[in-house]
Amino acid sequence: MNNVKVEILGDGEPQYAVIACVHGDEPEGWDAIQRFKKSGYEVNEPLKLVLANEEAKAEDERFLEKDLNRVFPGDSEGVHEERLAAKLFDELKGMKSLDLHTTNSRAASFAIISNPNETEKQLAESTGIEKVVDMSFVEGGMDDELDMVVAEASREGETTDHLYKTIINFLAAEGVIDEDFRQTDPEFFHVYDKEEGTNYRFTAQNFQLVQEGEVFAEKEDDTKIASEDFYPILMSTDGYDDMIGFKARKTEL
Ligand SMILES: [Zn+2]
Repeated sequence: MNNVKVEILGDGEPQYAVIACVHGDEPEGWDAIQRFKKSGYEVNEPLKLVLANEEAKAEDERFLEKDLNRVFPGDSEGVHEERLAAKLFDELKGMKSLDLHTTNSRAASFAIISNPNETEKQLAESTGIEKVVDMSFVEGGMDDELDMVVAEASREGETTDHLYKTIINFLAAEGVIDEDFRQTDPEFFHVYDKEEGTNYRFTAQNFQLVQEGEVFAEKEDDTKIASEDFYPILMSTDGYDDMIGFKARKTEL
């Protein structure tokens, strides 16, 4: 197998792509794409729709062998996700892409870019999402060498509906469909470090300033006290095995 499922709406060579299920247990993005297909919008230019990891989706697993979002640019001779990564890379290079994810983090939805260049900043603004995180600190992500914005929708609330609206806003702002859209002036966060640790209870809030000296995580025999001001990003009690999450500074986009 190791196939990436690709569909093209409209005629010609697309410049834009919308991607879902880089993580197989996040089906809401693919549901949102199906809803877009049924919505009746005409595309002004061709659009590529991509189901990244169909096998993992079928098993409702995040991945089968390795996290697809940590193995880019991939390896055509490697394990399942490494092969998928190589194929995705071929499908998406030179394009402008929106990658749909869902998160268990209770923070509001946010966008991620990994090359804070002009193109990605523009793509991030086109999502209409109010918080943008520069995650170039983390290596192996799909967007390291591609022009792409990731939309992370919180699992609290109407996730599919939210991702559908993100697709519409993005495509409208980029001129791919004709529709009203929101132009935001997002808050911008730059991830500069991670916080190691297992079995900590995260006691602060993502995207809200933790001040120097403040306790932000604890367990029976230890507390984590901030050695400097920072913003927690994707920090949680049980999100990662070996770390609590990421630390960011607020900067200008
Ligand atoms: Zn994901």
